[in-house]
Amino acid sequence: PASAPYRGRFAPSPTGDLHFGSLLAALGSWLLARHAQGTWLVRVEDIDPPREVAGASQRQLDALVAFGLHSDETIVRQSARSALYEAALQRLLDDGRAFECHCSRSDLAASGGVHRQCVAKSRRADPAIRLRVPDGTVIVFDDDIQGPQQQDVSREVGDFVLRRTEGYWAYQLAVVVDDAAQDITDVVRGADLLDSTPRQILLQRALGLPTPRYAHLPLVVDANGRKLSKSDAALPVDAADPLPALKAAWGALGQSPDAIAGTDGVAAFLARAQPGFDPACIPPTCAIMLAAAHNTG
Ligand code: GLU
Repeated sequence: PASAPYRGRFAPSPTGDLHFGSLLAALGSWLLARHAQGTWLVRVEDIDPPREVAGASQRQLDALVAFGLHSDETIVRQSARSALYEAALQRLLDDGRAFECHCSRSDLAASGGVHRQCVAKSRRADPAIRLRVPDGTVIVFDDDIQGPQQQDVSREVGDFVLRRTEGYWAYQLAVVVDDAAQDITDVVRGADLLDSTPRQILLQRALGLPTPRYAHLPLVVDANGRKLSKSDAALPVDAADPLPALKAAWGALGQSPDAIAGTDGVAAFLARAQPGFDPACIPPTCAIMLAAAHNTG
């Protein structure tokens, strides 16, 4: 309900060290939560062991502390929450909304990677489980930053995976279950996840869960339009010297340099950033160029 107290979150996957893009999402979600006098949570999305980098989770959490961004409640880890995902999946299976899929990669390739119906000729020992997305399933939503959005999930995505063949949980299922379990009212994250949102709304409806508000922050890209990753030396996030990165993130969020001018430490920066923050200044675009992110005055 619209009257529920604001609850936001930052939900990093431990696939590498905190980079400038993740700092932007962390700071942006924190500022929006503080602006609404709300609660801000950190959730570790460690459900993909093959992509996990050893030690990355702790380094990300340590970096957040160095940046002065502290979770208001105990940090939860998705790796410890399988029972919740299992229960949600079972409900979808019982309702006939989810199904076992024995298709192989090449079966899927034949339909351009979009699953519409199973064509597998043999059964796998470890089938994936997908959500059935009937023809004409169009999801519309209004993003707080990016504006009106629309996706024909059946045509653009197809039946999507909830549990992978290896038995790993899909991001889409885990994130929906946890956002609801943690009473998240406002999901603030990078625009790379804008096209996942319709799938998440569809899952919320299938599970009878509320849909939070969504705000997708612009992604920082390089001069060639490529997303910045930890391999980009251009904008390292140095937890030992947090202020330059915080100020750069502030600039990338479209905020006035005057509001934070002269701050010489993390605490001073965050103390000035809170009252100086104006959500209306966040650029309503999916991508902003690296140079603009540097331009912090
Ligand atoms: N764990 C996801 C990521 O790091 C973000 C999930 C989310 O914010 O919904 O890309």
